[in-house]
Amino acid sequence: MSTFKAPKGTYDLTPPDSATFLAVREALAAPLRIAGYGYIETPGFENVELFARGVGESTDIVTKEMYTLTTKGGDELALRPEGTASVLRATLEAGLHKAGNLPVKLWYSGSYYRYERPQKGRYRHFSQIGAEAIGTEDPALDAELILLADQAYRSLGLRDFRILLNSLGDSECRPAYRTALQDFLRGLDLDEETRRRIDINPLRVLDDKRPDVQKQLVDAPLLRDHLCDACRAYHAEVRALLTAQGVAFEDDAKLVRGLDYYTRTTFEFVHDGLGSQSAVGGGGRYDGLSEMIGGPALPSVGWALGVDRTVLALEAEGVTLDIPPATSVYAVPLGEQARTVLFGVVAELRRAGVATDLAYGGRSVKAAMKGAHRSGARFTLVAGERDLAEGVVQLKDMESGAQEPVALAAVTDTLRSRLG
Ligand code: ATP
Ligand code: MG
Repeated sequence: MSTFKAPKGTYDLTPPDSATFLAVREALAAPLRIAGYGYIETPGFENVELFARGVGESTDIVTKEMYTLTTKGGDELALRPEGTASVLRATLEAGLHKAGNLPVKLWYSGSYYRYERPQKGRYRHFSQIGAEAIGTEDPALDAELILLADQAYRSLGLRDFRILLNSLGDSECRPAYRTALQDFLRGLDLDEETRRRIDINPLRVLDDKRPDVQKQLVDAPLLRDHLCDACRAYHAEVRALLTAQGVAFEDDAKLVRGLDYYTRTTFEFVHDGLGSQSAVGGGGRYDGLSEMIGGPALPSVGWALGVDRTVLALEAEGVTLDIPPATSVYAVPLGEQARTVLFGVVAELRRAGVATDLAYGGRSVKAAMKGAHRSGARFTLVAGERDLAEGVVQLKDMESGAQEPVALAAVTDTLRSRLG
């Protein structure tokens, strides 16, 4: 082991487990790719002010969890704690919303950083797949995104997850509700920090997981009883569209999520096998965010799915993904001359698209054959001086054990046809 270890709250992805991680990322993004979402990539850090405004000064993410730094040039930056603010910033900067082709539908994949107390499913560096549909107010878009996430989880074989759904209202109905909630909360027996939260982000108190707080919230006023007609109709439409598609969801009147900019539709995917870090993904509508970061009115909706927790959810359900071996053919040279020849054969196979590896380092046949088994290759190619003199290599089928000589010139075609 080296003197150094991965920083606290982080972990490395190494083979073979990293293959599962890649497959999960791919599966979570796959439904988006065939639903009109284009790929977007933004920097790993942004101006700290973007997150302060775009995520919210009253959120835990901004007040406690952000990694901030001052550059040598004096710029105040933050490692990105989430994707939405950056994606919207990039959309506005590139003027993607101006071409008249709203909504702008985008998906992304990347690393995010939050200074959290590390525990299972909660890390300081984690990975998300995200989707945003920018610039259009249409309940069908909200429903589409929920449907696509549901499809993504199901395609991986996950079953023990639930969709929690709520509406947070809008600038029309939320202010009055907020005041009613504040009045209610001020009458409760709460600690200092929670009391402060009543003033700056009262909805967040509903999300407090502590039993003694939850007990006091039983009679809290709920937003669903305060929605204006437009929000009520919008929410009814989202629910109806999901129901028509056979997507089961649970109404959760206390679901608020951590970010200030959410309006109307809010949802979370929770997995029942994960203990307290149960949210595998979440999202919602953020109609006011664009204006908050200096853009025009662009009502939008999006989600982010946690890759790390999705991998944990697969483990919790005992689902193993069917990941084919990375290597189909493994070449074992016996001697210097054979190495040179097989090096060429391997290069040709790879050019033909056949996943091939070679036993390097002049190891013994026994050690090289071990390498062949470990690689999971379906075929091995073994060649010694006598084979080369005859212009052949020995092709061994690792499943049946059958071995036969194949002319050097025919190796690629033979293997391509056998591998289908
Ligand atoms: P939580 O309530 O668990 O803190 P969150 O509301 O902060 O989650 P979001 O900002 O909605 O999470 O991020 C979307 C998804 O990203 C989460 O559902 C989760 O799967 C994942 N995620 C968020 N924070 C972490 C983290 N620190 N470590 C691993 N995954 C995370
Ligand atoms: Mg969090």
